[in-house]
Amino acid sequence: MTEQATTAYRICPFCEACCGLEIDVEQQRVVRIRGDARDVFSAGFLCPKAIGLKDLHDDPDRLRTPLIKRDGQFVEASWDEAYAEIARRLPPVIAAGGANAVATVLGNPTSHKMSLMLYFPRLARALGTRNMFSASSVDQVPKMLSVGLMFGSWLSVPVPDIERCDFLLILGANPMVSNGSLWTVPDFRGKAKALRARGGKIVVIDPRRTETADVADTHHFIRPGADVFFLLGIAHTLFDEQLVRLGRLADHVAGFDQLEQAFAPYSPERVAARCAIPASVMRELARSLAGAERAAVYGRIGTCTQQFGTVTSWLIDVLNVLTGHLDEAGGAMFPKAAAFAANTRGKPGVGRGVVTGRYASRVSAAPEVGGELPLTCLAEEIDTPGAGQVRALITVAANPVLSAPNGPRLARALEQLDFMVSLDIYLNETSRHADVILPGPSPLEDPHYDVSFTQFSHRNHARYSPAVLARADGQPDEWQSMLRIGAIAKGLGAHADLDALDDAALEDDLKRSAGDAAGQLMAALAPLRGAERMLDLALRSGPYGDQFGRNPGGLTLAAIQAAPSGIDLGPMAPRIPEVLRTPSGKIELAPPMLLDDLARVAADLAAPAPDMVIIGRRQLRSNNSWMHNLPVLAKGAFRCTALVHPDDALRLGLTDGAMAAISNGERRIEAQVEVSAEMMPGVVSLPHGWGHNLPGTRLHVAAERPGANLNALLDENLRDPLSGNAVLSGVAVEMGPL
Ligand code: SF4
Repeated sequence: MTEQATTAYRICPFCEACCGLEIDVEQQRVVRIRGDARDVFSAGFLCPKAIGLKDLHDDPDRLRTPLIKRDGQFVEASWDEAYAEIARRLPPVIAAGGANAVATVLGNPTSHKMSLMLYFPRLARALGTRNMFSASSVDQVPKMLSVGLMFGSWLSVPVPDIERCDFLLILGANPMVSNGSLWTVPDFRGKAKALRARGGKIVVIDPRRTETADVADTHHFIRPGADVFFLLGIAHTLFDEQLVRLGRLADHVAGFDQLEQAFAPYSPERVAARCAIPASVMRELARSLAGAERAAVYGRIGTCTQQFGTVTSWLIDVLNVLTGHLDEAGGAMFPKAAAFAANTRGKPGVGRGVVTGRYASRVSAAPEVGGELPLTCLAEEIDTPGAGQVRALITVAANPVLSAPNGPRLARALEQLDFMVSLDIYLNETSRHADVILPGPSPLEDPHYDVSFTQFSHRNHARYSPAVLARADGQPDEWQSMLRIGAIAKGLGAHADLDALDDAALEDDLKRSAGDAAGQLMAALAPLRGAERMLDLALRSGPYGDQFGRNPGGLTLAAIQAAPSGIDLGPMAPRIPEVLRTPSGKIELAPPMLLDDLARVAADLAAPAPDMVIIGRRQLRSNNSWMHNLPVLAKGAFRCTALVHPDDALRLGLTDGAMAAISNGERRIEAQVEVSAEMMPGVVSLPHGWGHNLPGTRLHVAAERPGANLNALLDENLRDPLSGNAVLSGVAVEMGPL
């Protein structure tokens, strides 16, 4: 490092692990990225993706100025021109079709942007549309719904307390590659190794022998989409063999008496064939879970992206409760985030709970969940004429043409819109359809606090990253763009006073939550504004906050700014009943909606196994589709391969390295075959987010090796009916050599 170099600290924005990075900067250029060894949460860990931050910032394809489409071609524009174009074209759509004529789609990177997380709700309120969609409904809504029903808030997800756990059962998740999802756990490898070194055991259930299975004690293949039967088999055994022990939670549960009867039909012997796991394994796992002093069951994307996603997600936590491991050290516990968690607000121990279906989508009548409709409904809401038809779209860091089922239909639908705005740093497969593209700052130009992931962290902490690099002149903050578009939607034009709007919105919030003290709080937060003011407010009024002077030494934004490697807030501690926000003040073990859905499960018990089904897979060097455009992550062996078992390769005439056709009815893609015994026979695995061969994009590196779009193969009409989540796992396909 030269004398002119400085070191900055930044939470990695590339995945849910949120590792702390140390970044050397020289003359506004990143010269080195490494893990921050003093980071209170990640202790120096990083994965290869982190190095891609430099590539992302320097990427010549990354948009640095707004684009407006003129006569079918994108031309560069000033920010004023871009906002003026939105002001010219968005209000007429609203005037003609009403608020619901505008739809919004939030993509996954939004969750790594403090500004977007805190101000998108302001835009949503200004728009007033019911047509809100996000990546959550092709990913995690089943878990949000199940914990919402059980514990009372959408993000009260219990996570394994891995540093004190002795027995970890993992389904449909690959934390060796992801470092946790809905479970923020950097350096899973190190923690798994430590777990086993102290005599603990890890068991993995997955249709692929994943990287996590490789470091586990035991791995069992499971038929994709059959996790619900496997979990029911274990739950049945707990009652059958009198292994249930609620322990401390006995006084805090409701619905317990209904469970034994509900699980009675699902003996391991009866469900074994359906899930392809021997009954003896289910019985043994039930005994191990019940017998372990500190154990947890954890399931993730494979357990959500299937037809029984919500029931499966529920059963995972039911097992944690029935074996006495929920809310116990070393079990599945509730993080206590320093800011923004609904389960630290309001009256402890009781709340309004969650409801769904307050309205439904226009075409398929899919119920609203958490204020959103299923992303798989977006195309039909655009391409089906009639009152309430979507005529304009605002996408925020989203690429649903690649990330949602039947992207080709969605792409055609986007062409029919009257107007589309994309807030995106790339001209990608989705934003190419926009009329205006507004590029946000690169993550290195943005201050950051993890609004979401502190709520899923295996250890409590508070960390803040100031911007590492200066912004280009004129580049607005994303919270300003959110307010600006909101003002345009409300008819205030392209030049509304954003500071006045920001003040008014916050004051409004404060009047609702703090009544007469609102003015005092506004004064105490000055001179901050925007996202940082909201962060300061949330920290100071949060569970570790200074309570505006009433708790001297408590957290403030200034306090976490003064700690570049973060502030440790200790291990997770038991939180029941305080964490609950259900109307009953209890853990709802048997929500009627979930018990009722068991009828659908029962009807599926005898479903025959298709000849071949498809699943996705997470890869170390990829998380979002745009990562395929970063040279440091794109290099090396081609990764968008269709993994098949050698027996399947033989019977289907597939050759390692050759191309295969994979079809699902009319839908068809071509992918390179990789033969591997890590696959369960009868299952093919293809990573998602590929298919960069569409015209009109500006992703030069990704286009060199475009890969195949898994989602082009999937059916947008297949959803878990409770959560609306897309069914991405276990879909029947046909496969043969090209
Ligand atoms: S594990 Fe995730 S957060 Fe950590 S360095 Fe890798 S990409 Fe970044």
